[in-house]
Order: sequence, then structure tokens, then C-alpha cells
Amino acid sequence: MQPLIDNARTFGQRPEEFARLAEGQSPQVLFITCSDSRVVPALITGARPGELFELRTAGNIVPPYASEHPTSEAATIEYAVEVLGVRDIVVCGHSHCGAVGALVRGDDLDAVPAVRDWLHHATPRPMGAAEDPAVTEGVQSHVLAQVLRLRSYPFIDKKLAEEQLTLHAWYYEVHTGAVRVHRTESDAFEGL
Ligand SMILES: [Zn+2]
Repeated sequence: MQPLIDNARTFGQRPEEFARLAEGQSPQVLFITCSDSRVVPALITGARPGELFELRTAGNIVPPYASEHPTSEAATIEYAVEVLGVRDIVVCGHSHCGAVGALVRGDDLDAVPAVRDWLHHATPRPMGAAEDPAVTEGVQSHVLAQVLRLRSYPFIDKKLAEEQLTLHAWYYEVHTGAVRVHRTESDAFEGL
């Protein structure tokens, strides 16, 4: 923890770089990814403060849309789309994802019931080679399922119909830094 505190202590010593941020934010992109510490969206994309609106959840799961049961995730997505007017949403899964790995392997998660119950939102359950430590196949199918889930959000469906929004499925390799994107033409994850 101490190195993080030391950095935070000196971080604000160049206030001129941040002064304009007081005027507001107008990010163009909502970036949805896992809470995993190895995934650092600003590092991957080179985004500066104000450029990327982020939603991070365990396993980058997008829960079902249910307006009668508001979720933090739906609120974040709604705000990004309806208020900030983002034009793109990236769902970025990553290799070696603990959440997706647990789903693929069918791990017993009774010791962490909050995690277990959250992962129930991942339907269909991601399939893949359980012996693959990167769970590549599982993560990639899981990312596509989350993009599909986004489409079921009524305000996203509307924006897509109006061609005001584009959805992107990304797969990030934590051990190489490589990013692959799902291309509909080939129905495969390929280099950016
Ligand atoms: Zn993860």
C-alpha cells in the first residue's frame, strides 16, 4: 500500500494538467471490463483523464436489464449512453480471468456466496477448455454474451437502431498485452 500512497501524495503537484477537468467530462467511450488488477484500461488505450468512462465488474458481467430492480451497472451504462452520449461501448474480457475460469470449470463457490450469486448472471454459462489456464475460448464466448446482453437494454437497442452507438467485443491477453477484437465477418477474435 505504501508505494501507492507515496505516488498519490505527489500526483497532484501538477494541477495545471487537470484544471480543465473541472469544466466537465465528455468521454466518447464506455469501457466495460473485469475488476482484475492486471487489466488497466488507460494503459491499454492510452486514454487521458476525461476520455474513458469505465465500468468494472467481477468477470465483466453485464447483468440483465430490469428497471424494477435497479443495479449500479445499469445505472452506469444508462448514464454513459443517455447523459454523456458515448458513441462506443467496449466490453473487454481478459485471459486468465478468475471469474470466467470458475464458470468454465464449474468451481464450487459456496465459500464466496456473493461471487457465486453474481456469476449466476453469466448466462449462457461460458464454455471452453477447462484445462486452458488462459480460458481463451470461455472468455471470448463470455464477452460476446455480454455484448448481446447490452443489446437487450432498451436505450441501447434504440441507439443501435438509430446508428448512434457501436458495440465492440475485445479480448485482452494479460501476459502479452495483445488486444484482439471480434470481427463479425469472420466471427473470430483478430488483431486490432
Ligand atoms: Zn477477470
